[in-house]
Amino acid sequence: MNKSVEYLTPDQWSQWHTELLQSTVNRAFSRVPFYRQRMKDSGVRPEDIGSVEDISKLPFTTRDDISDNYPYGLFSVPLRDIVRIHALRSGHANPVARGLTAQDLQKRTSLTARFFQISGVGPDDIVQICLDPGMALHGQELKEGAESIGALVIPPDPVSTFTRLRIMSDFKTTVLVTTPSYGLHLFEVFNEKNMSLAALNLKTVIFIGETLSDETRALFQQELDVETRAAYGIFEASGPSMAYECQCKCGLHLAMDHVIPEIVDPESGKTLPEGQKGELVVTTVTARANPLIRFRTGDVTSITREKCECGRTTWRMTPVEARCDGLLTVRGVKISSEQVQKLILDRTGGTALPFLMVLHKWKHLTQIEILLAIDETIFTGSLPQLHHWIRESEEIFQEALGISCRIRPVEFDSIKSFIQDRRFAVDEKAFYSLS
Ligand SMILES: [Zn+2]
Repeated sequence: MNKSVEYLTPDQWSQWHTELLQSTVNRAFSRVPFYRQRMKDSGVRPEDIGSVEDISKLPFTTRDDISDNYPYGLFSVPLRDIVRIHALRSGHANPVARGLTAQDLQKRTSLTARFFQISGVGPDDIVQICLDPGMALHGQELKEGAESIGALVIPPDPVSTFTRLRIMSDFKTTVLVTTPSYGLHLFEVFNEKNMSLAALNLKTVIFIGETLSDETRALFQQELDVETRAAYGIFEASGPSMAYECQCKCGLHLAMDHVIPEIVDPESGKTLPEGQKGELVVTTVTARANPLIRFRTGDVTSITREKCECGRTTWRMTPVEARCDGLLTVRGVKISSEQVQKLILDRTGGTALPFLMVLHKWKHLTQIEILLAIDETIFTGSLPQLHHWIRESEEIFQEALGISCRIRPVEFDSIKSFIQDRRFAVDEKAFYSLS
């Protein structure tokens, strides 16, 4: 990837984005019936896009749309041109599937490679990736990006935290890529096991999947004497490195050669002015197989267009502050109440049991506990049978959600006391469903 691309002037960005947007919209309109219909419904045609500012005329795309058009509905190239398909569990009837052409793969790998290089990673580095299984797709792209610059990569293999620390020590890992919560957990286990700081060779820790707090950053920088970087990415568009910090660490540079970012009001969908907080919306401009037009990420942030002290002119987003679409992010894995509800329905054979999902902190790791109001369809009087059903359900939920969780059978009234008057709510601690 050409380095100079991150240093274009505002006029050059505007001109280039106009060209990229026009070609993306033309391709989507002519090749993807879904986009053609959506644009017709919105009364907009490709020729109405005279400049990048006209992007606000275009309809949004949501995760529901991707799921609803599973498996091939959003592909803009013939299947023979697709060289890889990635699928992600979703809270809907269908998975979220994305196709990649050879060119798409190359572009995503080069973007991830650029992100590593900007983070100070080079061919002499040993990059260890520690992520939950629910972030396996990000893990794979990070592995390919790091390998492409010649680094030695230790991918996120399913071993214990202690084993990961041993590997970090024995193989002299220089760069750790992880989520903030798992990074803290690693650090805690490291202390518990009385491991020696001298045994580590870490120089950089890159945090993805969750917002990196100032406290966590300070702890790593001070206690481990390492450089810290944060990155942001989503599976649906551009992978794990759609935005990343430079050495100035004053916001995350958006990869504007791959996406056109916008901030909109989550309620009205109206475009918000620079600096105002709202939902991040991205349009992919390099994706050949699955172009995404005005994809609503659900992440709340703000964007500045000011030139960074590092010299880059790419816009910078602030760390994600919240979500506005009802999804919870737990250790980088996005979970919806619909997902949990569907799993319960599958396990009960169609009985919708009320549940409450609570997030606990244990050794810095967020643990999910599902309080499930059981009835006679589950509890027939035999405690051993109930325990067996719970343990089996926990395994199935872990497989489906990509993250471990505990299920606690409770009385309906226990849940009711949490719910108060609302039928559905989401906050940092819990979400639940009464249906
Ligand atoms: Zn910068």
